[in-house]
Formats: sequence, structure tokens, C-alpha cells
Amino acid sequence: MSITCMAVFYANATPFLWDDKTKNNGDDKKGKAKREDTTKFVINEESLEGVQDTTQILFPSHDLYVTWDTNSAHPYNFYESFKADSVTLTLTTISDCGFSMPYKGGITSEFGWRKYRPHYGTDIDLETGDQVVAAFDGMVRMAKYYYGYGNCIIIRHENGLETVYGHLSKINVQVGQTVFAGNVIGLGGNTGRSFGSHLHFEMRYLGQALDTEDFIDYTKGELKSNTFVLRKSDVETKYDLRALHSRHRRDVGLAKYDKGSKVAKNGVYKVRPGDTLGRIARIHGTTVKNLCRKNGLKPTTILRLGQKIKI
Ligand SMILES: [Zn+2]
Repeated sequence: MSITCMAVFYANATPFLWDDKTKNNGDDKKGKAKREDTTKFVINEESLEGVQDTTQILFPSHDLYVTWDTNSAHPYNFYESFKADSVTLTLTTISDCGFSMPYKGGITSEFGWRKYRPHYGTDIDLETGDQVVAAFDGMVRMAKYYYGYGNCIIIRHENGLETVYGHLSKINVQVGQTVFAGNVIGLGGNTGRSFGSHLHFEMRYLGQALDTEDFIDYTKGELKSNTFVLRKSDVETKYDLRALHSRHRRDVGLAKYDKGSKVAKNGVYKVRPGDTLGRIARIHGTTVKNLCRKNGLKPTTILRLGQKIKI
């Protein structure tokens, strides 16, 4: 990417704190931001050290996020923070550098439940050393080795999204640095929980991982739409992988049980191995209370195999 992006979106991001004086300095830089330049707006490490109150930091999506945590990948609680039923996100604007594919490669693993754990990202095939670029303009929130992610970069964007780039062999950016879509932020690799070089790419909102394929057409290498409506109901039915998985297990377990179980004949059910009053009630569409009343039992009664229960 050698196109000069004339975004002035973050041109005044050098000052890391709200400060009238530094804001003016930023204005002087308007129009000078170049796509290739990832080092221009590095935040001075010393200026970060003295900052305790992160609400004073000029970080993207300041209104939505209270904190700017540079050490933890996902310090958020989506359900506590997401108060609305839905939010419409604008992904790019005319005054920013748009969207760039983090790496143009084939998908090797999709968002979803793997055998034992959730996979919150999309894996993109690459060779170690291939250049990985920022998907959108934003500011680097985390850049370090982080558990299974290996060398990992997280970028916060102005619309509240965060993008995550994992398993890198090299990190080329620093925390607090402003980056533009298309800037090289690191090199692909095989660090962390990774078997074979690839880029693990995530998109998150308030910590909730979303399926990047709902945003990006990977074959065309472009966004499917410039707006994305995130509904709380979609999180519950599509994105909250742990909750979905446990619900699925429960449903499967119940289905198996229902399949193998006998139902009452002539209103009488014979207790089988593993039965509880709760299960018997569920199979027959009644309640434990009703069963207890009909059979003179207590909810805590231990059932005997073969015991006859009136339904
Ligand atoms: Zn992955």
C-alpha cells in the first residue's frame, strides 16, 4: 500500500492528554498524516507513566470505554456495559483511511466453537514474516506477548470496535501509537497457542468477540457493508460462544435422554436408572410439585428403581 491516506482523523493524537496547547500543535499537523508513517505519533512512554486516571487519556471511543488498559486483552464485561438493544456502527468515514485486509490470505479456521474451546477469531493463512496491517485507523491499546495469543496487538477504533492480531512473530508498534488502516503493525508468525503460521484476527465490541466474516468478505478483501448493526439478541444467538455451547450441550443431553427414556403407560411411570423427580416431571410436561402431590412424595425423596410414579 503506497497510497497516501490524507486522514486527519488522528492528526492531533500526538498529545496523549486533553490539553489546549497540544491540541493546537495537532492542528498544525492536519493533512500531513501518511499511511506509511507508523512512528510519527508515538506516545512518549514517560507521559504514560505519570497517568493514573485513564479517563484523562485521549483514547478512541472515550465515551464508550471508561478505561484504557494496556496490559489486559479483554478487561470488559459486555453484558454490563451494553445497555441498548442494538447499536449501529459506522466502520469507515470519508475522513479516515478506510479498511484494509489485515492480511490477504485464505481462511484456515472460522469463528465458532472448536472441540474444547471457543475460537473467537478468524485464522488467516500466512508465512512467518509476512506483513500484517491495521484493518482500520485507531490507537494501539495493547502490544505484547499475551498467553495463547502469542505476540499480540490490540487496536481500539473510534467507533468502539477493537481489532486483535495474534501469533505475530514481530510487533512493530507501541502502546498509544496511532495507526492508519493499511499501516504495517507487525509480522505474521506462529507464537502462542498456534500450530503453524497464521494470523488470528478478531473483532470485538466492549470485549464481545464478533464473527469477522459478518463484517468482511474475505474473497473480495473488502467490507460487506460500511455499517454494522450489533444487536444484543445476535450476541445471545450467534456470538456468545460459551453460552451457546452450554445451551447446546444441555439441549443435546436432554434430547438424548428423551430419546432413550420411556414415558408413562396408563398414567404410571416406572423409575429407571438416573431418574429424578425433576427429569420425570420434565419428560411428562408436569412439575415436581404435582408429582409429589399425586404420589405422596417430598421433592427430596430418593427414588427406587422400578418404583411406580403416577403422572
Ligand atoms: Zn485463531
